[in-house]
Amino acid sequence: MIPARINLPVRILELMRNLSSINELELYLHSILSVAAESTNSASASLLEYDEVTKDFYFKSMLWFQGDQVRSAHVPVQGSVAGAVFLYNKPVAIDDVSKDNRHYKKIDELAGFVTKSILGVPVVYNEKTVAVLEVFNKKEKYTEEDIFIVEVLASLAGAALHNETLEKKIQATQEEARELEQLKNEFIAIASHELRTPLGLILGHATFLKELINSPDYEEQIDTIIRNATRLKEIIENLTRVDNYETGSALLHSTKASVSRIIEDVAISFNDMAKKKNITLKTETPPGQDLLVDIDGTKIAIVLSNILKNAIAFTNENGLVIMRAEQHPDYIKVSVQDNGIGIPAKDINHIFDRFYQVESHLTRKHGGMGLGLSVSKVMIEMHGGRIWAESEEGTGSVFSFLLPVRKTQPLPQTPFKS
Ligand code: ADP
Repeated sequence: MIPARINLPVRILELMRNLSSINELELYLHSILSVAAESTNSASASLLEYDEVTKDFYFKSMLWFQGDQVRSAHVPVQGSVAGAVFLYNKPVAIDDVSKDNRHYKKIDELAGFVTKSILGVPVVYNEKTVAVLEVFNKKEKYTEEDIFIVEVLASLAGAALHNETLEKKIQATQEEARELEQLKNEFIAIASHELRTPLGLILGHATFLKELINSPDYEEQIDTIIRNATRLKEIIENLTRVDNYETGSALLHSTKASVSRIIEDVAISFNDMAKKKNITLKTETPPGQDLLVDIDGTKIAIVLSNILKNAIAFTNENGLVIMRAEQHPDYIKVSVQDNGIGIPAKDINHIFDRFYQVESHLTRKHGGMGLGLSVSKVMIEMHGGRIWAESEEGTGSVFSFLLPVRKTQPLPQTPFKS
């Protein structure tokens, strides 16, 4: 026993070192109990954890008990040393338990053990007693030094128990997040499916009515219905696009397509929107080059439209938006540059997240649901490409993406300035 005392600082340091990397809590607590028993010359030791539900103690760890009777036994707060320690939050040392009715004798009967003396100290974490560490049957009396040693070990046990509680909470939260994610996906899938049919009917009938009435008196009202129903349809399509990709059901229909051509087509479709704000919309593609690559042209056009729509929406009147494309040996780089309001540095890493918008939803001046960029990211990544944004608040933004020429070719990792 004496050599164990001599090694005590080393063993405590070892326990402290291992605290941050406990793989098996049971083994760790067992080591604490071994050190507690050896260093106080005690015959044994145990750790009783307080159960918030049953309002009594159970054996979290023990040195010598065998058999499940003791493992599953509960110790009451009233009429036990553990209870006295717990209630007064102070160490209790009893040199002769036969003369003290605080000892709970049932455990001795179950374990076939004769307890003669006990030292119990509270295991405290965040100012709350969560368990009691006990050592038993020292030949001599328990001393102040024994109390100090067991208190140090109890604080390590407290930290280990706290880690376990945190670990359980993290796991429960992750599980909850997974369930919520699944619920959200199911909700999106069901809601968009259910909305699509009535919306299709509204659009179809409104178009039919427009042709039927063919009168300038009602044109504005019917156009408003058609425009807004079309907008709703776009929102639903965006929702299902991200969802399809995440559930793995989205497919690429790749053919050789000209990126230069897609850029020109998308630019033409946004000419009116740009003109309304007197924004100059330019395209810069290498002259005489089609920039042919195997892509799903429809999806790349959607990506470019989402980016260009934002560039025009977030650029003030008389601004400038330039769409560029460049051929590199392994990839084609496309970028959209604007001299608009820019994006604050704190938001730039989030704008590709689903439903993320820089302005608060309540105060924002622009429409949208924060889906356009997440859809775009999904689509570019389906192509094995990469998309990113660079921006300076008040100066403007550049959104760029790379499309690999060969699917197996790794793309450069660091975004480079346009
Ligand atoms: P939304 O359809 O709501 O605009 P997006 O996913 O397309 O959603 O964009 C997310 C957010 O990123 C936008 O709400 C906007 O705050 C910001 N953003 C995107 N493009 C630009 C841009 N060119 N300039 C400034 N902010 C932008």
